[in-house]
Amino acid sequence: MEKYDYLIVGAGLFGAIFAYEANKRGKKCLVIDKRTHIAGNIYTEKIEDINVHKYGAHIFHTSNKSIWEYINQFAEFNRYTNSPIARYKNEVYNMPFNMNTFNKLWGVFTPDEAKAKIEDELKATNIEEPQNLEEQAIKLVGKTIYEKLVKGYTEKQWGKKATELPSFIIKRLPVRFTYDNNYFNDLYQGIPIGGYTRNSRKDARRN
Ligand SMILES: Cc1cc2nc3c(=O)[nH]c(=O)nc-3n(C[C@H](O)[C@H](O)[C@H](O)COP(=O)(O)OP(=O)(O)OC[C@H]3O[C@@H](n4cnc5c(N)ncnc54)[C@H](O)[C@@H]3O)c2cc1C
Repeated sequence: MEKYDYLIVGAGLFGAIFAYEANKRGKKCLVIDKRTHIAGNIYTEKIEDINVHKYGAHIFHTSNKSIWEYINQFAEFNRYTNSPIARYKNEVYNMPFNMNTFNKLWGVFTPDEAKAKIEDELKATNIEEPQNLEEQAIKLVGKTIYEKLVKGYTEKQWGKKATELPSFIIKRLPVRFTYDNNYFNDLYQGIPIGGYTRNSRKDARRN
């Protein structure tokens, strides 16, 4: 029977990096996974020439330069910037809520105008002790943002009405008073060109 220094359970980012670094230091590793592929949640699969992120979109992001340089040794990253949009009926909004969102919602241009608008909405709510997620969200950002940008998404995600969900699920809803649509605040972000598992077959055989 072969002897290993480490048995690593899980071939995701953590297990893979641990094995790579241990191996560099002369340790013998066995990486196992209950899934039939490597990479854990960041696994990408090429379908119709599109890199599909099987477990949801994954954007690598960090503010730590040494981590960014480290990860770039394994793949060339594209310049992807995560700037999601949300569709409410036939309207499209930037998320998380920022000045572009507020301009489209209310026609306001400056942070002060946007703050005043949200303040007006909050005054109109009259909710002291939120009894459910809907009330909590309205208390935090007002009715307009809740109705258009929180309600549908939350109910779809949880498979329940927002009035049937407990209020503690939402502690805060980030509101940004800049025109920056970038979801992450980190200095570096991107997706490997060709996906996270471009050479996965070759790699799997090698391991
Ligand atoms: C929908 C979604 C979107 C995300 N988007 C981002 C993003 O954009 N940017 C970002 O930085 N992070 C994102 N994350 C977080 C990111 O997925 C994780 O931080 C990262 O994948 C963690 O890597 P990991 O190796 O610790 O775990 P995982 O990737 O979860 O890998 C763990 C592996 O261990 C295996 N395993 C577990 N238990 C056992 C067992 N008992 N026996 C055998 N195998 C086992 C699993 O099958 C899995 O393959 C997102 C997460 C989700 C769910």
